[in-house]
Amino acid sequence: MNCKEIEKMFPLFQEDALSTKELRKFMAHIDTCEECKEELAIYYLINEGMLSLEDGNAFDLQKVMDSHMERAKAHLRLRRTLQSAIYGLEGLVVAAIFVILALIAFQ
Ligand SMILES: [Zn+2]
Repeated sequence: MNCKEIEKMFPLFQEDALSTKELRKFMAHIDTCEECKEELAIYYLINEGMLSLEDGNAFDLQKVMDSHMERAKAHLRLRRTLQSAIYGLEGLVVAAIFVILALIAFQ
């Protein structure tokens, strides 16, 4: 995924509207690309900053962005955990089927 594609995803990221697959690619790119990280910070400043000013809240861009990044990472971690749990279960089901088949075959 290149920087242009990542930039197009900024609004979706901000709205938590990226799919898990997209989010994983997005985060991987942001983690390694200083340029996009900076662009995202500016995007945040403009959008979240405006919202916060309207609300009259004190605004800490870095904090808002960090917590959003943390949330995204937690989401990916959770997905990974769920996925391995599902794979684990699938393995058990396959094993159970083999045991049943073996029992039937060797009766
Ligand atoms: Zn980039």
